Amino acid sequence: MRQSIIKSRRLLIILIIIGLFVLVFFSLFKDRNASEVFLVFRYDDYSSESSLLIEREILDMLDRYEMSCSFGIIPYSIEPGNSGEKEIFPIKNSKITLIKEYVREGSINIGIHGFLHITTNNTESKTEFAGVPYKEQFDKIRASKNLLDSLFETKIISFIPPWNSYDEHTLNALKTLSFLNVSADNGQGDYNERQFNFIPFTAYFSDIKKILEYRKIPIHNNLSVMVLMIHDYDFREIDSTSGIIDIPEFRKVIDRIVQMGWNIVSIDQAVEMINRFDIGHYKLNRLKLNLLNHFPGYMKNISMFEKFDVLDDFYLSNSQVAKILILLLLYYLLILILIGEVFAFILRKMHINKRFIFPLIFVLCFSIVSLSFYFLYDDHSLGRHECMGLMIIAGAMFSTIDYLSFIRREGRKIV
Ligand SMILES: [Zn+2]
Repeated sequence: MRQSIIKSRRLLIILIIIGLFVLVFFSLFKDRNASEVFLVFRYDDYSSESSLLIEREILDMLDRYEMSCSFGIIPYSIEPGNSGEKEIFPIKNSKITLIKEYVREGSINIGIHGFLHITTNNTESKTEFAGVPYKEQFDKIRASKNLLDSLFETKIISFIPPWNSYDEHTLNALKTLSFLNVSADNGQGDYNERQFNFIPFTAYFSDIKKILEYRKIPIHNNLSVMVLMIHDYDFREIDSTSGIIDIPEFRKVIDRIVQMGWNIVSIDQAVEMINRFDIGHYKLNRLKLNLLNHFPGYMKNISMFEKFDVLDDFYLSNSQVAKILILLLLYYLLILILIGEVFAFILRKMHINKRFIFPLIFVLCFSIVSLSFYFLYDDHSLGRHECMGLMIIAGAMFSTIDYLSFIRREGRKIV
């Protein structure tokens, strides 16, 4: 009798945790019509070689609608010169004249996208800047800025590092050259540069297509912000194997975005209009990604929770990230209880001798404390696997303590 009461109480607790989880999760999403949605449009790799077909398509979009976007421009390229030797050339004149009027009107905003966009290391993680000495980085960025500033008669303040990769030297060079905006991704080092606006990209075109189908999206204070990164090779007309959209689809999606009253803006415009790009928000959104990584992949396959993916695509506020933290605590609490139940079952079946129980509790407790220290001290980020390991040991410890009180209660002699 007593045991069945305990069991039904545990079941109730599990149901309450699941209920709370569902409630908190759905409170993250609100009706998309109730907010201003901003989509920062960042087209990378505009260069002598990039696709005119796709660029004409983007210019057509700018002609049709009142909007603006950012072009990450590669200022120089290496080609065989008159002597046959490879030489460095500035971006072709035709590519300047194609967009110069748009830049002058403000519908295209320029970001410096590297110097040559050629990797400086031989590893998998390509970069033109990270790990390169300060002087070299400074010279490259200065040459790039000088060229594009004078060709477009403008003052460029945005930097989009190739492969979204930079380091502390890059930021120092950008500071000296009066850049204000850095748009890479959320995977860069933990820098404390307060004078920059960080506008990391958050979404691919395929994400935007998916988001358009949802009636409810993450909204805070009537505001929703995403940053789209797009290349010419994302179009099947350019790369038939790895392209993710084609031109007719692109037009349809842009028409739909405009119909829904979303704002398509450039990096510089977004920084002027929205107050979510300071270092605090940047770190907050890195934390968000860390927290989201703790949820197992299969969760997104449950149709109720498929929108977990969408949380990656938006810049979230303090309270939204706090809700994700609550979700994570509820999730681990549930795991802890379930693992505890499994261990409790095993312990009862094995009839462990009472005198082994205290040493067992001590060993489990010691492992939790020492492993926690090790994970944090050894620069582990306390990721999904580490937390799961700790939960398994904690579940075992709590069920052992529970087992001790069980045998005391029962007054049974365990052999
Ligand atoms: Zn690029």
